[in-house]
Amino acid sequence: ITLKRKRQLFALFLLMIISSIAAMLNLGLIVPFLAIISDTNKISSIPILKYLTNFYDINNILLPIAFIFSLTTILSVLIRLLTLWFTNKLAAGIGSDLSCKGFNNILNQDYEDFIYENSSNVINALTGAINKAVNYLRYLLEIFASLIIIIGLSFSLLVIEPNIFLGTILLIFSFYFLLLIFTKNYLRNSGKIINDKTIELIKLTQESTGAIINIKLDNKFTFFEELYRSSETELRQKIALSNFLSQFPRLVLEGLAIIFIIFLALFISRDNAESFALGKLGILAFAAQKILPEIQKLYLGWSQLEINKSSVIEVLRIVEKNTNTKKTIQNLIKFYPKRIIKFENVSYSYPNANLKVLKNIDLQINIGEKIGIIGKSGSGKSTFLNILMALLKPTSGNIYLDNLCLHSINEKSDLVQKYQLSISYVPQNYLIIDGTVLENIAYGQNPKNYDIDRILWAAEVAQIKDFIINSDLGLNMLVGEKGINLSGGQRQRIALARAIYKGSQILILDEATSSLDTNTEEIIFKNLYNLNTTTFIVSHRNSTLKSCDTILKIENGILKINN
Ligand code: ADP
Ligand code: MG
Repeated sequence: ITLKRKRQLFALFLLMIISSIAAMLNLGLIVPFLAIISDTNKISSIPILKYLTNFYDINNILLPIAFIFSLTTILSVLIRLLTLWFTNKLAAGIGSDLSCKGFNNILNQDYEDFIYENSSNVINALTGAINKAVNYLRYLLEIFASLIIIIGLSFSLLVIEPNIFLGTILLIFSFYFLLLIFTKNYLRNSGKIINDKTIELIKLTQESTGAIINIKLDNKFTFFEELYRSSETELRQKIALSNFLSQFPRLVLEGLAIIFIIFLALFISRDNAESFALGKLGILAFAAQKILPEIQKLYLGWSQLEINKSSVIEVLRIVEKNTNTKKTIQNLIKFYPKRIIKFENVSYSYPNANLKVLKNIDLQINIGEKIGIIGKSGSGKSTFLNILMALLKPTSGNIYLDNLCLHSINEKSDLVQKYQLSISYVPQNYLIIDGTVLENIAYGQNPKNYDIDRILWAAEVAQIKDFIINSDLGLNMLVGEKGINLSGGQRQRIALARAIYKGSQILILDEATSSLDTNTEEIIFKNLYNLNTTTFIVSHRNSTLKSCDTILKIENGILKINN
């Protein structure tokens, strides 16, 4: 948490202490008040009141005292309200700090780590789990608040009525302590299950909505419903039982308290004067009414801590990720090589696999060339491109841009990010956003900077302009979620137009024309060859790559060059 939040936390603790002192004073004042009401002779024992009786009638004194007592009560309530409000606000503030930090970390982490991040986990951490983490924090603060108040009240009660108080408090604490021992593991376990099942539900929803056609064709509704129901039911049951466990002691204790007071009344009245007994009982009842809820809050808070623990761990896993938070560097200046891109003995293996996906690649590419890449599926083409784009760092070997080493050890110059600015990329799994054709082609750009002429030009290069112009809404046509309103080839061409619109010096297409007919693919490639870019194209149709300057063939991670 930031320094600002630490200061706020400190302020909150001060507020809690003041709040506790107010509660203590409030309790301290009720003693003389009840004493006077039950026995007006008592007035003579309190000097200041005795002095007042010289001027006023006794009955006239009682009203102002009642008034003062009410005033301190109101004050004490106000301070507690303030504490409550501040507690929630601070927990929320820290919650959004954590959430934003988590989101930043996910975006900023190295691509190599990102590919192993499960999206359901991330969604859970940044939505459901962060809420529970905020609850955790709120309960933690409330526990502190309750503790301070309990200490304050205990202090006054110890002075007023040590024996009865000590006995009672011992009884209550042992009741809760026993509960704590019995429920601890169950609660913690439930919390973990609640978290896991939430992730499972997100995963199931994502996967089954994505595979809806197969589910329909295979008539697998019941299968997925059952999966969903079993996770969902277990989740709800755990939540219900955990909530019950954290709340039921209050009811039990309220009952016990009444029984206790009945017997205490019997006990006290036997050997004390009636009025005295009433006064004492009043104090005890008042103290119980104040202290019992606080103790229950302590227990409730503690049980919520146990329940929410695994969510907090989940959130912290993401928030504490060690990303060298790059953020968007302001005014980052694009860098692109002017002569060559050179691979020198580059090898790569993924972190979780020993096998080398790329083996000892030596390659020199002249800027401005059009490079075709072929090779069987799984041979390492996409991995090669990811290394070319500096998303993955070679396990060994170097890449040079002109004569600059791309991953030099003293990487202070932001070279990677400057170089990446000069790349446009159309992946196999390109993104189509749920918006208009216009927003899709100009994705990531502020609407007030849209260059419509250029967008239409890019659409023309990508052979999608006719389709756009002939549709009713033109560029404002809605594509639907994941481009559901379009054909596969139309989607691909929109993704292509987006890359072309960007106007980068290096253009990379990874099987980006796989859904197009040979004819259209050929026209698009011809258009691309006329652009002033260094272009890398992965395609399975050798015929459409024939005009490339160089053809790279990747076979089991080994690169062969055909000029
Ligand atoms: P291509 O694009 O030529 O079809 P890829 O470059 O995607 O092939 O994959 C090359 C090899 O690397 C494949 O054998 C694949 O199984 C493996 N691979 C791809 N991604 C990962 C990953 N994240 N972790 C481990 N192995 C991977
Ligand atoms: Mg691939």
